[in-house]
Amino acid sequence: MSQSFREFFLNKFLMLLRPTDIEMSAKDFISTYASYMTSLGIVGKAPSGHAYYPSRTAPVDKEHVQFFEELIDLAHSLDIHTAVSMDFYTDGWFGRDPKYQTITDRGVVMTHQICPNREEFWEYGAEIVKEIASYPVDEILLLGAGFIRDHFCFCERCRRDFAPLVGQEPDRLTYQYIVENPDYHAAWHKWRSDVVHEGIRRLQEAAREADEATGRATPLRITVEVLIDPESGLAEGAKNEYGYDYSVIGQITGSLMINLYPWSPILPTRGSKEYDDLVESLYFVNEFKRRGGTVSLFRWGVTTMDQLRELQDLAKDTGIDRIAGTFSYPQDYSVRRESAIGAY
Ligand SMILES: [Zn+2]
Repeated sequence: MSQSFREFFLNKFLMLLRPTDIEMSAKDFISTYASYMTSLGIVGKAPSGHAYYPSRTAPVDKEHVQFFEELIDLAHSLDIHTAVSMDFYTDGWFGRDPKYQTITDRGVVMTHQICPNREEFWEYGAEIVKEIASYPVDEILLLGAGFIRDHFCFCERCRRDFAPLVGQEPDRLTYQYIVENPDYHAAWHKWRSDVVHEGIRRLQEAAREADEATGRATPLRITVEVLIDPESGLAEGAKNEYGYDYSVIGQITGSLMINLYPWSPILPTRGSKEYDDLVESLYFVNEFKRRGGTVSLFRWGVTTMDQLRELQDLAKDTGIDRIAGTFSYPQDYSVRRESAIGAY
């Protein structure tokens, strides 16, 4: 792997590292690779819900704290662009708490991802943003910022808030009732995306508050992950499934990260119809950038130079500014994949 680290850095790949990806101290890692590095990503709050820094609000994974703090300090002192990831609704800690759980209309409860319609959780996320912002980092990679898919959420609060908009009793609201009427379905999409954007807006406010409190020269950037996969209808389908609107995110944070084919192991090859469809669905990137935004291409489980080159090619063909990724898949990957594209 040591050879790859060097190659990945040389290719300006923003590597989002888990401390366990590196079998050496932060100091040794930085002194070995700093001369190749322009940017570096490190997990700040994992999908387990645990923080890898000494958080006062989230449960802390203590064994990673020293590594996190040393890495951030060293990278900052060498002027390396540092990004810290923060899983938002993908939170296995709150996912176990019935007050936060997201649920299907038939009462199937998820425990890996919570309902976005939780104003109090936005406040919790805002605290996490401020805590991360107290470190000299340049960027937060905001992961898991949407709904699991169109079949969510039918928790008590979502029923109560949405049912009146389509003339239904909260207890009698079903997914079937919504999709049978195109107007209701459109209202569902609109309402869910408003929820998602409000959550992101609150975190962006927190970043601005932190900028003022710490007197940052350059504002802390929040880069929002969006999932784009053929199983969920590429870019257009993703809007309805997960509840985000690229242009609205552009207005709020100005930075987007496309998690490419999260549910599909193989990327289409250049020249194939599927590749062309993908490139076409990413046309929105141009408009996003024209309005001053930045777009990154991200993928889980990138370990070979071939995989890296595939991303470089697609980035080039679509005008995407930066490529990023992780070496490994999230630990709860199979559950997530099943909940996002499985049958309901
Ligand atoms: Zn809900």
